[in-house]
Amino acid sequence: MQSRGHIGIIGAGLGGLAAATLLRRGGYRVTVFEQAPAFARVGAGIQMGANAMKALRAIGLDAEVRRIGFRPDSLLNRDHDTGAITNELPGGDVLEARYGAPHMCLHRADLHAALAAAVPAEDLHLGRKLAGIDQDAAGVTLRFTDGAREKVDAVIAADGVHSVVRERMLGKEAPRFTGRVAYRTVFPAALLGPQRLNNSRTKWWGQDRHLVMYYITAARDEVYFVTSQPEDPSWMTPESWSARGDVGALRESFSNFHPEVRHVLAACPQVWKWALLARDPLPRWVEGRVALLGDACHPMSPYMAQGAAMALEDAVILARCLGEAGIDGIEAAFRRYEANRKPRATDIQSLSAENTFLRRPGGTDWVYGYDAATAPLDEPGTRRQVA
Ligand code: FAD
Repeated sequence: MQSRGHIGIIGAGLGGLAAATLLRRGGYRVTVFEQAPAFARVGAGIQMGANAMKALRAIGLDAEVRRIGFRPDSLLNRDHDTGAITNELPGGDVLEARYGAPHMCLHRADLHAALAAAVPAEDLHLGRKLAGIDQDAAGVTLRFTDGAREKVDAVIAADGVHSVVRERMLGKEAPRFTGRVAYRTVFPAALLGPQRLNNSRTKWWGQDRHLVMYYITAARDEVYFVTSQPEDPSWMTPESWSARGDVGALRESFSNFHPEVRHVLAACPQVWKWALLARDPLPRWVEGRVALLGDACHPMSPYMAQGAAMALEDAVILARCLGEAGIDGIEAAFRRYEANRKPRATDIQSLSAENTFLRRPGGTDWVYGYDAATAPLDEPGTRRQVA
């Protein structure tokens, strides 16, 4: 098939890989440039809400995620000390019937591997770190740290919260440290002994901290938890995905939590510590032939488990806009993408920061009911009212 144009994607994270698959399928030649020399298996779980699962269906990976992941019986919310249930959203078949897709929990690296496997190796260039970009009416020149240059027709920057392309577009501004950190770990369920997790995804809500725990495999043989808690504002790591945490300090900071939580913390052998970063909504996501996607344009607190979901939805809507416009209409297609994605991503970004989602019943339909593959597309400047 004759290529419709050559699109460079910066970053082979969840968002960049999703966009690569969809745009290839739409007839574009796609090259993904990723700074890492190899993909590391980061020990973390990830929830894919029903809206994310519908985006994965559009990418062709929902069956694979169902096969490898854990489908919780409910999204359970409990008070940190009494264990009283504040809200339980039924999962399993009930949630699936309600939202047209399941809620799944899986290993982040398994999700990443599934997305990476869908992109041909020759289109995925590892060890290529972008240093800067220049564009004119004819296309975009990518400049890499090794001095090499590549010319493409358009660029999708899915280069994460520290996006070089965002900086080029909007100026230098470091993401804000929220003053909070997340401890996280994945470990074999066997370490829990006979007292295993229940079959829910459970969030334990404390006053200024919380902890979310769930299985991440269909076989329920691996457990994941992630916390959020205050941290000294001076604490930061340059590359927080790989910073170790102190298990003793973690156990101490959750020592007034319910015995079920303390049992899990007592069993976990090691933890990693992650700085939680944020940015205010950006004034714009696109400039000419360059568009930002995922955390590059809307990094958010992880409290709704929707950051990657938004990146996947971005990819689906972007592919739909580009599919209709073609490369000659790429600038209009990018503007349409922004018009359709920014309101929803911004709403989720701000609700996520509040950290109230699911604590009490209600308010889930607009999040999980959305399907990026079928949602009507607005034209720029004509935002549809949300019912
Ligand atoms: P990233 O995953 O950050 O990928 C960016 C890629 O770009 C990286 O591979 C990076 O190496 C590459 N890159 C960066 N700069 C360059 C450069 N100059 N040149 C070339 N390559 C470059 N989301 C959910 O949906 N569900 C959850 O349950 C969930 N849990 C979370 C828990 C925590 C504690 C946190 C912090 C986040 C969580 N998220 C969750 C959010 C989710 O992790 C992110 O929103 C998602 O990973 C963003 O994907 P991305 O592709 O935009 O960016």
